[in-house]
Amino acid sequence: MLYRTYGKTGKEVSILGFGGMRFADIENREAGVRAMVAAAEGGVNYFDTAPAYFGTKSEETFGEGLAEIKRRGHDYFVSTKTFKSKPSEIRAEIEAQLKRLRVDSIDFYHIWCVTNLANWQERKADGALEEFLRLKDEGLIKHICVSSHLIGDEIKELLMEGVFEGVLFGYSAYNFRTREAAFDAIRAKGLGAVVMNPLGGGLIPQHPELFAFLKRHPSEGVVAAALRFLWDHREISTTLVGFGNDTEVKEALEAVEGYEPRDEGELAALKSAAASSFEGICTGCGYCDDCPQGIPIPKLMDAYNQQILTQGKNAILDRLAWHWSIKASEAAACVECGQCEEACTQHLPIIERLQEIAAKEKVE
Ligand code: SF4
Ligand code: SF4
Repeated sequence: MLYRTYGKTGKEVSILGFGGMRFADIENREAGVRAMVAAAEGGVNYFDTAPAYFGTKSEETFGEGLAEIKRRGHDYFVSTKTFKSKPSEIRAEIEAQLKRLRVDSIDFYHIWCVTNLANWQERKADGALEEFLRLKDEGLIKHICVSSHLIGDEIKELLMEGVFEGVLFGYSAYNFRTREAAFDAIRAKGLGAVVMNPLGGGLIPQHPELFAFLKRHPSEGVVAAALRFLWDHREISTTLVGFGNDTEVKEALEAVEGYEPRDEGELAALKSAAASSFEGICTGCGYCDDCPQGIPIPKLMDAYNQQILTQGKNAILDRLAWHWSIKASEAAACVECGQCEEACTQHLPIIERLQEIAAKEKVE
């Protein structure tokens, strides 16, 4: 395993981190714990969860897994988050999290999912930052971090405020251009940087031919190549992979073992050669999935991804029919209220895409 220093904290974190959002069977606690232990035995020491992954069951699994990891003599760092912004609510949340995680303090505690700068200002006005500072003074959290879905200069502006010690954000081989500006602030402020969604919500393994440009050798798997691309970014402290089971953990550990870093020049050349068309892809995060009209937005946007990625004339209609079993006409119910675009973590023009989908007709 390779380790990197998390910003100015001095903590040495493994470049491969364990994300607790994709356990294959959350009801099978034993399998979840087994996956966590396999990761720790392979040198993974960064474990990230959240209070709404599988309800509270991811944090509960983490509680059992971390206890077992400790019993086996491994050190670890635990990371979790809160969406709450009022001090009393944050306090109640963290007290419950400490119990579920079975720890006395949380190493990296995140203000969760800042989707726009106004939202951050609102949370600050509610007293979120003061409460985080109090929690740190009391020793209940070690480091104040933020999880952001901002892009471009907005994420830079958030981080340049200088109140965070680290940032968690989505970054991968297809969307890197939309978030690269974050690294300016990460370098300037000496922040830890954790990236999530490294495989683009499954798009990269589903389209290995489109991402073959990442491979250093023809025999290299596209998943390993996509992870190694991220590790080539020296500013990234750790890359979270949402593991389903211990087999997936072992595959990712092999990617670390065979990792031959590119130098900065090679990475820059790779990035400039990468197809810019990977920008604007829906990651399936689901934050938009509360449409007052009941439109299944993530499914429709997934179908739109297929059109972008395959350029197929009927890609959208085929995906909707054969994968999701829904009709393109469902998109026509949109009343353009704008709620989904406000929530979209990828800042996609959802309304425009829905109009395009609704007008689709099969091409023979
Ligand atoms: S803009 Fe359209 S799709 Fe988006 S939430 Fe409003 S009605 Fe639903
Ligand atoms: S449209 Fe945006 S918010 Fe909705 S699932 Fe896709 S990326 Fe997430």
